[in-house]
Amino acid sequence: MALMTGEQYVESIRKMKMNIYVLGEKVESAVTNPILRPSLNSVKATYDLAQMPEYEDLMTTTSSLTGKKINRFSHLHQSTGDLIKKVKMQRLMGQKTASCFQRCVGMDAFNATFSTTFEIDKQYNTDYHGNFKKFLEYVQENDLVVDGAMTDPKGDRGLAPSKQADPDLYLRVVERRPDGIVVRGAKAHQTGICNSHEVLVMPTIAMRPEDKDYAVAFAVPVDTEGIVMVVGRQSCDTRKMEKNADLDVGNKNFGGVEALTIFNDVFVPNDRIFLNGEAEYAGMLVERFAGYHRQSYGGCKVGVGDVLIGAAALAADYNGANKASHLKDKLIEMMHLNETLYACGIACSAEGTATEAGNYMIDLLLANVCKQNVTRFPYEITRLAEDIAGGLMVTMPSQKDFENPEVGDLVKKYLVGVESVPVMDRMKILRLIENMTLGTAAVGYRTESMHGAGSPQAQRIMIQRQGNLGYKKQLAKAIAGIED
Ligand code: SF4
Ligand code: FE
Repeated sequence: MALMTGEQYVESIRKMKMNIYVLGEKVESAVTNPILRPSLNSVKATYDLAQMPEYEDLMTTTSSLTGKKINRFSHLHQSTGDLIKKVKMQRLMGQKTASCFQRCVGMDAFNATFSTTFEIDKQYNTDYHGNFKKFLEYVQENDLVVDGAMTDPKGDRGLAPSKQADPDLYLRVVERRPDGIVVRGAKAHQTGICNSHEVLVMPTIAMRPEDKDYAVAFAVPVDTEGIVMVVGRQSCDTRKMEKNADLDVGNKNFGGVEALTIFNDVFVPNDRIFLNGEAEYAGMLVERFAGYHRQSYGGCKVGVGDVLIGAAALAADYNGANKASHLKDKLIEMMHLNETLYACGIACSAEGTATEAGNYMIDLLLANVCKQNVTRFPYEITRLAEDIAGGLMVTMPSQKDFENPEVGDLVKKYLVGVESVPVMDRMKILRLIENMTLGTAAVGYRTESMHGAGSPQAQRIMIQRQGNLGYKKQLAKAIAGIED
């Protein structure tokens, strides 16, 4: 099958029998539910853009497995050039959706699993790499979306998986059968799982031998029996369910949702298993996936940042304040911070190297520096956007007030800014800023910048490990003339 169109993608999700709960109710379809639909639209954009000639070079590529044209979101990176294009594609997608477009977790999981399974097979003569290649060929051939699932609920953070009061707080194998395994547990914060065809599960931390039942990686369709998704609430989410509230939503077409995904004794056939008890490889898989996803943030968050900076600049224009030097300077600062993130995303890609399996890894130190900056700069960009927007961003009336026969005209009269700008355009921009800084998209732009792809301390541990402090000491000794 060739690349799917956006519409074909939507229809393929419509056919799936997923078990999804939103606001305490089981939903009929991820396609029609108003809370879920904007999230589906963001993933759909990864298909729509791939059909457009101007984006073909970034959005599509040639499969290293089949030689056929595929969407870059299911590609195994073959060079540093591929790694750079990945970041550019993510920036583009952020610019076009102003939200999380979700398909990257699968792409990052593919690349980490491909190289890790190769190394496990080399040591243990297992079949994981072959299983994984077969799975990825199927994904590429059918142009599927795959959710990469890593984060377990983790219970008491001071205890190892097998030492938890409830042994299911990390996902584990509960039964080994001749034809496969049965798994139980959950994965938290699953970005885009309701819009995915398949889920690729990985362990969440490095494991010791006693935790070998928890060292498991596999892929199954998301509508496999036993999988339940409970969608997280987001700030201002129910605005999406209101009539005549497009203005209030801020970004009516696009969004992203996360779900707590529960695996109630899910069967995984043998040919879909990519790790099963080789505990010492859990850490490698985690480190590689996290590294790729930390690179990703140097693209996606930058693209969303571009929209936020543009919105802040428009808010200043519409207020008539765009000549104020302090506002110009704030916009410069926002651009400086945003491009610094991009520079990190590009740098860790340009410094990438080939793995033993042949696909390309980013430079881990620089990818962790990238994500560490992402835990900070979007907060400062957000602060400056709110500063420029002014308080009206959070005190402005609703769309229904603007349409009310008694007060509508009065509200418009008193909320006008620059005379030449329609008052409702000014309101649209303020609501867009609200959406990205405090509303549903803030999950993807703000808090996910902190915790997505690992909380700040996780990067600091990696920076300590990769930073080569011993070498730096040697340099200082050499310059200072200190003998060992
Ligand atoms: Fe992609 Fe960014 Fe969303 Fe992660 S947070 S899935 S990198 S858009
Ligand atoms: Fe993320």
